[in-house]
Amino acid sequence: MMREIFEKVLKNKKDKADYIEIRAEKKEFTTIHFQGEKLEKINCSQQIGGDVRALVKGGWGFISFNQFDNLEEKVSEAIEVARLIGKEESRLAVNSPVVEIIKQDLDKDFRQISLREKKELVGNYNNIIMNFSPQIQSSKVIYTDKFSTIYFANSEGSYIEQEKPFLSVSFTAIARKGDNVQIANESIGTTKGFEIIEKISPKAQRAASRAVNLLRAESVEGGEYTVILDQILGGVFIHEAFGHLSEADFLYEDERMSGLMKLGKKFGSPKLNVVDDGSIPNLLGSAKYDDEGIRTRKNYLIKDGILVGRLHSRETAAKMGEEPTGNARALNYRFKPIVRMTNTYIENGDTPFEDLLSGIKKGIYAKDCYGGMTTFEMFTFSAGEGYMIRDGKIAEPVKDVVLSGNLFTTLLNIEGVGNDLKMIESSGGCGKSGQGPLPVSFGSPHLRIKKVVVGGK
Ligand SMILES: [Zn+2]
Repeated sequence: MMREIFEKVLKNKKDKADYIEIRAEKKEFTTIHFQGEKLEKINCSQQIGGDVRALVKGGWGFISFNQFDNLEEKVSEAIEVARLIGKEESRLAVNSPVVEIIKQDLDKDFRQISLREKKELVGNYNNIIMNFSPQIQSSKVIYTDKFSTIYFANSEGSYIEQEKPFLSVSFTAIARKGDNVQIANESIGTTKGFEIIEKISPKAQRAASRAVNLLRAESVEGGEYTVILDQILGGVFIHEAFGHLSEADFLYEDERMSGLMKLGKKFGSPKLNVVDDGSIPNLLGSAKYDDEGIRTRKNYLIKDGILVGRLHSRETAAKMGEEPTGNARALNYRFKPIVRMTNTYIENGDTPFEDLLSGIKKGIYAKDCYGGMTTFEMFTFSAGEGYMIRDGKIAEPVKDVVLSGNLFTTLLNIEGVGNDLKMIESSGGCGKSGQGPLPVSFGSPHLRIKKVVVGGK
């Protein structure tokens, strides 16, 4: 039905713009929120909305709405806006039209599970944290499920329907001893069914035990260390510190950064390979088509240590004379698609974890991530968990492990790439230009990096 409506409007308006697309989104979602002993929030709702994006002489008009009754008028409005802005030639990478309807089958469809059952499961997890130890002061457990169907059509003849399920649970445990307060997080996100979150008590326990253990940890002594990052921190590092700089809209606007991100430049040892791939089935950043109807694919960003690619929308690809990569994504119908990552990771190397450790006299094993910041090529990340490495062995726990440095030197300083890649799917997501949290996944094998500046307290 959407198809006929969209196609009729596009047929009438096609000649008034260089390009037009219409998107509609239907979603139903649930959130359950426990804090400490209390059920803070429980909410179940449905939403429908849409948007139109029109291109005239290089200028974009974008209108979003909740009512579909006068779609043709909305298209005219978007064209009108585009006309006011457009002053050059419209440039979009060429794409052949596709027509496809993509359904997503869930083993245990969370839309069929009662709100009561969801609440009980999440309440049990909350109790696991609260009852873990007298030192646990508070908790936060957040459950979210969402099932969206996205309808897309453009003036070139594409029509795509895609179903996108999303389910997540996050655990926060807060432990306290005197005025020493420590926090630990664990979470899981998935595009699969309810069965994925039915047996995650060990995760709730781990959040609680990590927070309690941190009460006993000493602050790390600041300095320069050889550091081993676990798969989570390695994944966050490659997404946040490197991946965002590979987004072509950013590069196109920043002359200095686009000079630093020159294709063909050496970025690391020949063992370093970095990929963004939206076509892997069923990961958080996956979809068969991006939000411009471009087929997603495996894109190498760094291959054998050399910078070889970047991420594009149709517009950035055309402007930079490269191919579109399937990376135009919109958070929802209120936003236009911009260049985003999907599933970003460092490929496996060949060094087992024990061999990465060996030969480190005094170093740090940094695990998990508790926040971070990047400004162009400079980054700072706080590990969620840390251990000293002494004589090639993991030793006592340490806290306040804050890693900082310059992206380019740090990539060159990666001296060991593990063989244990893990993709991380958490409850959070990626933020950019006010569009967040957008579901993405990231991953890495264990990485050994020399000369990392570690700040302690
Ligand atoms: Zn991000």
